[in-house]
Amino acid sequence: MGSIRALRGTRDILPDEAAYWQWVEGEARQQFARSAYREIRTPIFEETGLFARGIGEATDVVGKEMYSFTDRGDRSITLRPENTAGVVRAYIENKLAGQGGVQRLWYTGPMFRYERPQGGRQRQFHQLGAEVLGSKDPRADAEVIAIAQDLLKSIGLTNLTMDLNSVGNKRDRAAYREALVSYLTPYKDELDADSQDRLTRNPLRILDSKNERTQEIVVDAPNLQDHLSPESKTFFDQVQQALTDLNISYQLNPRLVRGLDYYTHTAFEIQSSDLGAQATVCGGGRYDGLIEQLGGPATPAVGWAMGMERLMILLKELRDAPCAEMDFYVVSRGDAAQAQALNIAQSLRRQGFGVELDLSGSAFGKQFKRADRSGAIACIILGDSEAENKSLQLKWLQSGEQEEQAQASFLQNTDTLRQQINQARSA
Ligand code: ATP
Ligand code: MG
Repeated sequence: MGSIRALRGTRDILPDEAAYWQWVEGEARQQFARSAYREIRTPIFEETGLFARGIGEATDVVGKEMYSFTDRGDRSITLRPENTAGVVRAYIENKLAGQGGVQRLWYTGPMFRYERPQGGRQRQFHQLGAEVLGSKDPRADAEVIAIAQDLLKSIGLTNLTMDLNSVGNKRDRAAYREALVSYLTPYKDELDADSQDRLTRNPLRILDSKNERTQEIVVDAPNLQDHLSPESKTFFDQVQQALTDLNISYQLNPRLVRGLDYYTHTAFEIQSSDLGAQATVCGGGRYDGLIEQLGGPATPAVGWAMGMERLMILLKELRDAPCAEMDFYVVSRGDAAQAQALNIAQSLRRQGFGVELDLSGSAFGKQFKRADRSGAIACIILGDSEAENKSLQLKWLQSGEQEEQAQASFLQNTDTLRQQINQARSA
């Protein structure tokens, strides 16, 4: 019988790669903490209706990509394809609005979409996201964008560009929708099949069709910007001014839309030219209508989500995996020595040192080779005579200097030890 393999569109994140993930998550955690965003963890599955209402039946995500199933209690359940809907459900259910003021939240975790797997596109993938609920200030839009940009910069990514647009308010968009549909209807037969389908259900999304003929048709379509009300224009100007003040560059892209009624005003996408076809690393915008749509109090909100896998593809090109810093590598041979070595290793760990204990029982020569490769600063050696004397050999791996010390005093003088290790590491 063949062995079982991971499902198509899923993959293992092995320890070498997990080091990158931890590093990015650590940077994000720091940035969010400095910006007063607090982490929220919501369930990985929810009632299917949440996504149908919260993302929209007319979207690809809900229409074609959801992992839905009926559970043993006959409920329709869906593995979350994104997390804004879950966060908003939690916000409403836990009455976070009642805590007053603005809720700044962030999350990270796996998402699930039934898509054709390819580079940068999986069926289980991970997003890092931020949401600000309760502010209609254009500075909130600028703040979330700035945090995304700073995070991408802090992990060293370059060659990023940002597209920006405004889809206006509900009324602006309704007027635009009408203009767009009357323009497109005569071309109906020439549109790609998806776009024909969207013409009645979600016409704004036709603007970002990848089909060539559809793109040609769309070039002369009415412009969304011409349908913005003076208030929407002012809001968009304020967002742009704030971005300019923050030295964040962007290009206006009138065809960047999020098609549904509860998306309002700002829409943006950050792309990398180093990614090939799946170029978007971060997408977001304002969704002033969503909380009400999901049964909560009318609440303005803005946020984004980043694709972690795409970040990792870029990051691996840029730098080696960050490696854990080991202080000691412990080698031993002989029953008594091996028992003492375990105790010494554990005692050092309790005092905060990083310690790798060689468990192989192989010849000293082989253990020493592994010590050299381990990245540790010093090696602790115990053989029969050290075991008998309750001593150990401490060997500094860079200089090769070695000295015998009593185990008891060695374990008590850890302040000096720490200084020596720090010195050796910075040398
Ligand atoms: P795309 O156009 O690439 O399908 P999307 O509009 O479906 O993106 P969003 O729902 O806005 O994407 O999700 C935000 C980010 O999550 C994307 O920009 C991307 O980086 C990442 N992402 C989305 N779907 C996947 C996937 N199947 N595999 C890996 N990353 C994904
Ligand atoms: Mg998609």
